[in-house]
Amino acid sequence: MFDSLKEKLGRFEEDVETTTDADSETDDEQPTEPDPEATDESAEDPESDDSLTERAKLFASGKSKITEEELEEPLEQLEFALLEGDVELSVASEIIDRLREELVGQARAQVKSGEVVVQEAIGAALLDVIDVGGIDFDEEIAAREKPVTVIFTGVNGVGKTTTIAKLGRYLEERGYDVVLANGDTYRAGANEQLQEHADNLGLKLISHEQGGDPAAVIYDAVEYAEANEVDIVLGDTAGRLHTSNDLMSQLEKIDRVVGPDLTLFVDEAVAGQDATQRAQQFNDAAEIDGVVLTKADADSQGGAAISIAHVTGKPILFLGTGQGYDDIEQFDPETIVDRLTT
Ligand code: GDP
Repeated sequence: MFDSLKEKLGRFEEDVETTTDADSETDDEQPTEPDPEATDESAEDPESDDSLTERAKLFASGKSKITEEELEEPLEQLEFALLEGDVELSVASEIIDRLREELVGQARAQVKSGEVVVQEAIGAALLDVIDVGGIDFDEEIAAREKPVTVIFTGVNGVGKTTTIAKLGRYLEERGYDVVLANGDTYRAGANEQLQEHADNLGLKLISHEQGGDPAAVIYDAVEYAEANEVDIVLGDTAGRLHTSNDLMSQLEKIDRVVGPDLTLFVDEAVAGQDATQRAQQFNDAAEIDGVVLTKADADSQGGAAISIAHVTGKPILFLGTGQGYDDIEQFDPETIVDRLTT
């Protein structure tokens, strides 16, 4: 997962280390602490005269600190690599700016002596763009009045139906009763597809005939849940209609009639920038609370994974990691950043 992205970040780390090393020919006796006050302190130690002189020279020439100029090339290469990996332009720029801010002025000696300065800077820059706050799915489900209605939006073919099934199992395993609702009344075969998952998982599915009103299906499922003390309704919606206006009015009507507790946008990590752009469009049509990125197992670039939250301002809540019902994991920004940087 995200191997190519990890490799690019690793390359940047090496580039910075090589560049800053090559530019400091006089630094065999590199000071570990370039702070001038420290220089005054160690001046009392007669044995450190040589290194003191060296340190003073470095300090005077600015060599003890990493400069913006020497970072320029590695940063440029990283920006190019990120864009090539389908990271959104604004997100790539943000990462580069943050890295520059973190690294310029850092003590060269620290980078040289193998401290994880660059790695930490990369981690901080990534966390900045990935961690947008927002809801905690489990907490929302636990706290809200039952039944909790969760609506899934996104285009067809990205794994939306599978994700609904996976989350059905996820919630059942946490002690909730779940009913599925097929609000995708537009697509032929959608009922059968969701019915198959429902059968496999032993879940009830509420559906209407093809061409029916999606809001009515989800409304029925909520009524069913209320009457049968079911905790959670997971409702699919159409991923494609004749026009984007139809799509929007479908979502608006569901909003009006059902008032879902949560709206989750589903797309595939492998779609890169397309996924990021679709997330923005769907969020404009019906505000989303979070994102599920499927097929992360098949995505080495990680472009959508590090762009989508920053662009929409909504957190990624889950990653789909395979075709099985258990192949879903909660998205924790710090864990992902750790995976990418260590
Ligand atoms: P929908 O049209 O959006 O409802 O898409 P489906 O749920 O039918 O999924 C489309 C295909 O993607 C199916 O073959 C799924 O098994 C596969 N799929 C869904 N999620 C994942 C995932 O996280 N990883 C992988 N590798 N495949 C997935």
